Parts: sequence; structure tokens; C-alpha cells
Amino acid sequence: MSKVLPCRLLIGGEWITVSGVPTSPVHNPSVGEVIAETPMCGGDVVAEAVQAAAAFPKWMETPPVERARILFRLKVLLEDDFDQLARGVTTEHGKTLAESRGDVRRGLENIEFACGAPSLLMGESAENIARGIDCDSIRQPLGVVAGITPFNFPAMVPLWMWPIAIACGNTFVPKPSEKVPLTANRIAELAQQAGLPPGVLNVVHGGREAVTALLEHPAVKAVSFVGSTPIAREIHRIGTLHGKRVQAAGGARNFVLVMPDADVTHASKGILEAAFGCAGERCMAGSTAVAIGRAAETVLPQLIDTVSRIKVGPTDRDVEAEMGPVITRQHADRVCGLISRAVGQGARPLTDGRTTRVTAAPGGFFVGPTVLDHVRPDMITMQEEVFGPVLNVVRMDDLDAAIELANASAHGNGAAIFTRSGKAAREFRHRVQAGMVGINVGVPAPMAFFPFSGWHASFFGDLHLQGRESVAFYTQQKVTTTRWFNDGEGSIWADR
Ligand code: NAD
Repeated sequence: MSKVLPCRLLIGGEWITVSGVPTSPVHNPSVGEVIAETPMCGGDVVAEAVQAAAAFPKWMETPPVERARILFRLKVLLEDDFDQLARGVTTEHGKTLAESRGDVRRGLENIEFACGAPSLLMGESAENIARGIDCDSIRQPLGVVAGITPFNFPAMVPLWMWPIAIACGNTFVPKPSEKVPLTANRIAELAQQAGLPPGVLNVVHGGREAVTALLEHPAVKAVSFVGSTPIAREIHRIGTLHGKRVQAAGGARNFVLVMPDADVTHASKGILEAAFGCAGERCMAGSTAVAIGRAAETVLPQLIDTVSRIKVGPTDRDVEAEMGPVITRQHADRVCGLISRAVGQGARPLTDGRTTRVTAAPGGFFVGPTVLDHVRPDMITMQEEVFGPVLNVVRMDDLDAAIELANASAHGNGAAIFTRSGKAAREFRHRVQAGMVGINVGVPAPMAFFPFSGWHASFFGDLHLQGRESVAFYTQQKVTTTRWFNDGEGSIWADR
């Protein structure tokens, strides 16, 4: 049995252990052991954190170039700690070490982007907007910002938020997922070591109660949220009701179209990675493959051959494991239940993850990679975001019908097509109702300098996370119109 770690809060530069509140267990999902307890804090603790974030005026006056220097130091510290951090992600989340490295790497890229704050914050100016009058705009921070994050990217998603927010001069109160609080804490420790002044970053822990307190606190000016669609919708509604700026990224059901002319090897590899990477617990997971025409006959055999050889195992101890567990036992049961219901509705399992046993780790939360063929749009695994290693295969006659199917979804996060035809790819990009599109790329997750641009029920708000949109979200513009007169005593200029 490993040691149960205390999960502390960072308030005003001090690490605090909270007692007398309910706790929620943090598991190592590979073996099912409890490794930490998350304190489920209430409004009083949140109020303390927000008050500490009122270090804001001083931080706002810190020149952007000095703020960026701290982020440069954080980047170096994170690189030094890279493998340790990745191991931590694997332990509390269950994804493979390679996937955890990707998680940390993507987070790091957001810090690199935020290091560009001095130029990202530059405004615009125009001379002579009227005779003798000039105009310019500057960007100023909002104040205290809160960030609420999901379990599936313990490093990357929090780092979508606070590095750029603080680079813009805000102070920040992150509330990580209660299921994976340890990576967020470790990165906050590194930020302290990098020289971030007390109060600029204050980490609170908890669930609904802590989130409600953040949403209702008058000093919190903006809220960034990433999580499931029902919660995202509610966060946006309540946050805006309290007069806050809100960006809320929600869930997804992403379609991967395969044209009959697709390169079979690339397409089957792309679908495999999209459906089963991170055990399907990705908002960019390709949960439905739409095989167009004879694509099912060409791509499916190779896909099934590879899927049936995926090594599922305890990622914290087996470096050869290619797919890890899902986050909790309850989630594993839910995923298996959805597979059973889809099979009951007529889906044909080509591989069946319900029967996967991992003898090396009997207590782990495992579901094996599952491919369901002949799935119809009304079946449960198409109607719900499964968020597990389950691939629906839908067969369609042509591209038009496939695009129509994808566009009928309430979500609009990602969509991809595998084809050799430029015309088909162009048609798909033009017509598909999704914010992130892949052409012969199964997981088209944008890099830090592009927005993470979900549509429809995958995003509530106006300005997305990442890239220049995040700079716009975390700042407000001030436009100054200037006229100088030439009538002062002792003027040396002639009137014009
Ligand atoms: P979740 O919605 O259950 O939880 C997200 C956060 O909200 C957590 O911090 C949680 O503590 C908090 N929360 C939960 N219930 C709440 C409530 N009733 N009121 C207020 N706060 C509450 O999501 P999850 O299971 O942690 O993460 C998986 C989901 O996140 C999936 O739907 C996935 O698609 C989505 N996601 C989306 C993106 C994106 O960019 N669109 C990225 C990653 C994950």
C-alpha cells in the first residue's frame, strides 16, 4: 500500500492543510489504491484564496517583461522536472508515460507562449484619426481570475489558463479536478520556486461547493472552465449571471471520416490513436469512425488486427503497456454498461473491452479497447460522450451523408477525414460543423499559439482558451484619443 499524500492548498504563498472538511479519494487507477485525499473546500476557504489574490494591484504594476522572466524560469524548472512530472501524471491519472509526457509537453508549450507576453500585450495606434488627433489602444488585466479544470489532462489544461492569465497581469485561483490534484500542486510549487510572488497564484481544492463560491465571489472578474457539457453550460450561465467574463469548454463526440481512397495504413493508425489514445479519455477522441463506401472492407481488417494486439496494463509499473486504465471504477462500470446497451441495441462488437482482465494489476480500473461495428446514430454510444476506449463504426454510402451525420451532433469540437482527394478534403473542411478539423490527422488538437476552438455544445462563451484569443479573454482594452493644444505660454511652435 503506498502512502496517502496530504493534498494541500496554496494561499498567499503558504501551503496549507485543511482539516474538518469532507475529502474525496485520489486513486492510482492502475491498481485502484488511494494515494491522496482531496479536501472538498467550501466558501470560507475559497474566500481566503480570493482575498490573497488581491495581491493584484502590485502584480498588475509589475512590467510584463518581468512577469515573463518568471515564466521563463518556470519553463526551465518544468523541463528539469519533466520526467518526474510525467510519472506523477501517470500515477494519478493512469495514462501511459508517453501520453503523460505529451500532457506535460503541451502544458509547457503554453508557458512558452505566455513568455511572449510583452509583445502579445502590445496595442494598436493610429495617427491623425482627425486633424491633430491620435488614437491608441492598450490591454490591461481584469483582476482576479478563477480556473476550473477536468481530470483528463492534469498538466496541460491548468496550464492553458494561468500562465497566460498571470502573464497578462491578472492573479489566479485554479481549482483542479478533485480526481487529479497532485500534478497541479507540483507545478504551483515550481512556480513559487521560479519567483512568482505570494498571492499571484492560489490553488484551492474541492468540487461543486468551491466552484459555486468562485462563481459568486464579487472579486472574481473572469472564469475559465474546461469539463463536461452540462457543467460547462451551467458554469457559463451562473458566471455570466454574476457579471463575470466566462469561457467554458465542454464535452465532445468527434467523427473521423474514412473515404474509400484513404491510405489504409495511415487511416487505421489515425483512427486507432484517436479512439484509444489516453484510453479514450480525451475531448478530441475520435469516438466514431464513419466508413464511407468500401472503406470498411479495406480499413477495418487492419484496424482490428492492431486493436486486438494493444497491450493494456498498469502504466505506473509496466513500461510496455500501450493503454492504461480509466479514471475510476465507477467510470469503468459506466463505460462497460454503455457497451452492453449498444450491443443490446444491435451493435456488433469486433473487439470487446468488457472482458479485459489485467492480471498484473487486479485492482485497476481497466476497460479494453472496444470496436463496435454497424452502429446506428440512435444507439447509446453515439448519443452519449462515452469518454472511454470505445470506437463506433458507422457505415455510410457517401461523403454527403457522412458530413450530415457529423453535423447532426450537438457537439462541435473536432472532426477529421482520411482521404487522398483534395476535393473531398476541401468539401469536408468547408461544410463540417466543428471548430478543429483534421485532414489525414486523427487528433487535430491545436498548438498553444492557436485557439482550442470548439463549437456548439463543446464551447460556451466568445473567446477560446489558448493563443491570442486567450490574451483577449484575460485583458480589457483601453482606447485613448489624444489631442494636444499649441496655446501654452512660451510656445515655440507656430499655429497650424
Ligand atoms: P466534469 O465536468 O465532471 O468536471 C470538471 C470540473 O468541474 C472539475 O473540476 C469538477 O470538480 C467540477 N465540477 C463537477 N461537477 C460540478 C458541478 N456540479 N458544479 C460545479 N463544478 C463541478 O468533467 P471531468 O469528468 O473532470 O472531465 C471530462 C470532461 O471534460 C469530458 O466531457 C471532456 O470532453 C471534457 N473536456 C473538454 C475539453 C475541451 O477543450 N473542450 C478538454 C478536456 C476535457
